[in-house]
Amino acid sequence: MIIDHPASYGASDRLLCQQCGGDRILTRRSPHPDFGGNYEIQIFRCVQCGDETTRSVDDTGRPRG
Ligand SMILES: [Zn+2]
Repeated sequence: MIIDHPASYGASDRLLCQQCGGDRILTRRSPHPDFGGNYEIQIFRCVQCGDETTRSVDDTGRPRG
């Protein structure tokens, strides 16, 4: 998937895994169906245990519930 705009959506973030304490890295991202084009749904996957978590962020990478 090519994203041709400068907003980062926090794509380089690493999250702490709640299961094992490892790093979660961004594996999938898609436009948010409810919040519109300035938001993304992102799926982070733990590199150690494989657990996945989803978050919604705006174009500055700020999480939105
Ligand atoms: Zn983990």
